[in-house]
Amino acid sequence: MKKIICILLAAAIMLLSGCTTANKLDSKEIFAMNTVMDFSVYGDDSEQLLKDIINKVNDIDSLLSVTNKNSDIYKINESNGAKTEVSADTAKLISDAKSLCEETGGTLDITVYPIVKAWGFTTEEYNVPDSEEISELLKNVNYSNIEVDSQQSTVTLKENMQIDLGAVAKGYTGKVLADYLKSNGASGILNLGGNVQTVGEKSDGSKWSVGIKDPSGSGAFAALSVGETSVITSGGYQRKFERDSVVYHHIIDPKTGYPANNGILSSTVICSDGLRGDALSTALYVMGTEKAIEYYKANKDFDMVLLGDDNTVYVTEGIKNDFKLSNGYDYSIKYI
Ligand code: AMP
Ligand code: MG
Repeated sequence: MKKIICILLAAAIMLLSGCTTANKLDSKEIFAMNTVMDFSVYGDDSEQLLKDIINKVNDIDSLLSVTNKNSDIYKINESNGAKTEVSADTAKLISDAKSLCEETGGTLDITVYPIVKAWGFTTEEYNVPDSEEISELLKNVNYSNIEVDSQQSTVTLKENMQIDLGAVAKGYTGKVLADYLKSNGASGILNLGGNVQTVGEKSDGSKWSVGIKDPSGSGAFAALSVGETSVITSGGYQRKFERDSVVYHHIIDPKTGYPANNGILSSTVICSDGLRGDALSTALYVMGTEKAIEYYKANKDFDMVLLGDDNTVYVTEGIKNDFKLSNGYDYSIKYI
């Protein structure tokens, strides 16, 4: 009798918590790609899957890092105009990133790297370059000069050009990890330094909740309820320095070579494709409010939340019912 009561109790607890052995939860925090990442995986073999995805993150990082001397990107950047052989995945990612640069009218431009370096964002030895240096460096910024041969798995840049996939790497990684977890029947929520990728459904059928960080505080100014997707935020507040009372941040307008300053404090993109979401979050930030809204209206295959520097929040119709401003934020919301 005692045994039966125990079994019934265990079953009731499992039902109440929505937890079965098939969706055991394992979580882990790691430091990779210069940021803290936090993974929660629900699955039959969540512990092993968690190990697998952490290995995948480290593998991708060692291919894409701009500072690791063995990475594909480092080799390309040191090639001085010569054809460079890279892994098939890197060649495909660079080719996809080039298309996204094109699609966003060059507001995303992965060849802006020499300018990012000149501002010191790569080493954190910050510096304000003079305008002549910026004009000189701008001459080599042009994504259309990247040549990718997918058959041969080679990438060729022009002399003095260099690339950096920092604007798309985390979104891309989230997408790779999500595909892997899905193919193993798992679900979860992956936070790659504020870039969130959700996988599958929560066990109780409810939506995942993702906060959007307050650019000037530690909390979230809003929360989104989402199904399986990526929620990716770009903002000048994420990496910045101050010189002579002026704040300079890490998202560079490839047309000017200076930090983009077009009225947006943060741009969040909700997109089924993490790579595209990451590319767009950076590009929309550079475009500024007006052009970003125009871009959204011309495409509508993603959703976005833009926080303007006048405390107006622009929310697209697809996410309207799943967007909630946090208590204490007196922002005006405009639905588009
Ligand atoms: P994200 O945080 O995704 O907006 O990416 C910002 C990072 O991408 C920066 O730290 C730079 O390494 C790089 N970056 C900055 N501006 C651009 C740009 N306009 N296009 C492409 N990459 C950029
Ligand atoms: Mg980005």
